[in-house]
Amino acid sequence: MESLKKKKGRVKNIFEILDPLYTLDKTALKYRTPFQLLISTILSAQCTDKQVNMVTGSLFKKYKTPRDYLAAPISELEQDIRPTGFFRNKTKSIKGCCQGLVDLYGGKVPATMEELIKLPGVGRKTANCVLGAAFDVPGVVVDTHVKRLCLRLGLTENQNPDKIEKDIEQLIPKERWRRFSDILIYHGRAVCKARKPDHAHCPVFKLCPSNDIS
Ligand code: SF4
Repeated sequence: MESLKKKKGRVKNIFEILDPLYTLDKTALKYRTPFQLLISTILSAQCTDKQVNMVTGSLFKKYKTPRDYLAAPISELEQDIRPTGFFRNKTKSIKGCCQGLVDLYGGKVPATMEELIKLPGVGRKTANCVLGAAFDVPGVVVDTHVKRLCLRLGLTENQNPDKIEKDIEQLIPKERWRRFSDILIYHGRAVCKARKPDHAHCPVFKLCPSNDIS
């Protein structure tokens, strides 16, 4: 079995090879405030960032505060966010989250994990996205790409995102947590795809224990 020291060295190499290849900023979602980012993150479930940005362009002009979302009739908000898909569930999540913001935090988005995950519909993944991008708080974001790549790269044996988060935190320095998540997301979209990983064009081929899976 690979020792922790060896694994740390391998992760360092993976990071340094992939980091310069994926230069997009913190997040491709467009937002101006932590609250806007929170709404965008909810909308981004099973939807591309580009599609979310197309919807939020007008959404953020219409709704400025949590109370604005709460005041909107459900059917109207559903139509406003419909192009992002799963609009009924997302409307419920937005309403629940906004109610939580008003009830618990006076309408302001809090800047700690403990407070954020008290909001209805906000899990550790969403909270880490918001903390990292809006407040510069380090955190490992474990979405579907990060989970898949961590398993393929042999960085975890866990399937549970919260446990994967802890495994990755042990392997790389805090200041790289956020960036490492982003790198894995980009690499997962571009090369190490769910259905057909492109081993032949993968720059970390030699560092990957799954370089022969189909
Ligand atoms: S070698 Fe293959 S499985 Fe490993 S990271 Fe690259 S594309 Fe993914």
